[in-house]
Amino acid sequence: MNIILFGPPAAGKGTQAKLLVERLNMVQLSTGDMLRAETRAGTELGQKVAQIMRDGGLVSDDIVIELIKINFARAEKVGGAIFDGFPRTVIQAEALDHLLAMRGAKIDKVIRLVVDETALMERIAKRFLEQGRNDDNPATYKVRLEAYNSQTQALLPYYKAQDKLFEIEGMGEVEAVYERLQSLLHVVH
Ligand code: AMP
Repeated sequence: MNIILFGPPAAGKGTQAKLLVERLNMVQLSTGDMLRAETRAGTELGQKVAQIMRDGGLVSDDIVIELIKINFARAEKVGGAIFDGFPRTVIQAEALDHLLAMRGAKIDKVIRLVVDETALMERIAKRFLEQGRNDDNPATYKVRLEAYNSQTQALLPYYKAQDKLFEIEGMGEVEAVYERLQSLLHVVH
């Protein structure tokens, strides 16, 4: 099974993905995590994307598609992939469909975490204090939210047309959201 966790930055995609990884035999593929690892390691790629990430913009489609190509093999060895923060543009979504089709696989479900903006701002302020991620500061977060609204939201009709789009309430306790996620994964076919 391959699923996409969908929603704006700080909707809780990463947290839920980690729980799924612990409890189901799946791999989390977060392009944000991959890019942060590159910047931490100071690779050429990391240096190339650092400023864009600091500013809250989207890095180029080619870069993230390549990262997914390299890492998808890990998911094939286990029970599938949880895509978190990818795809973020229609070009990325098309590339992902193509990549999976070439390997005889597909996206099974796209699960949108529905959250409200005030709660997101609170979440991000908390995460900024706790984790010190420099792109979590309120000004940059606003840019990230705008990137989501202008480019990533366009994926909703894309996946709706494929009849793969599901929604769950993303607010509330982590475990409560996870329960909703799990029942969706088991109950809806
Ligand atoms: P995230 O941790 O998913 O919020 O990603 C952190 C940052 O990495 C984003 O603000 C973008 O600059 C970059 N990024 C991560 N995933 C993508 C993607 N699929 N497309 C473009 N940029 C991305």
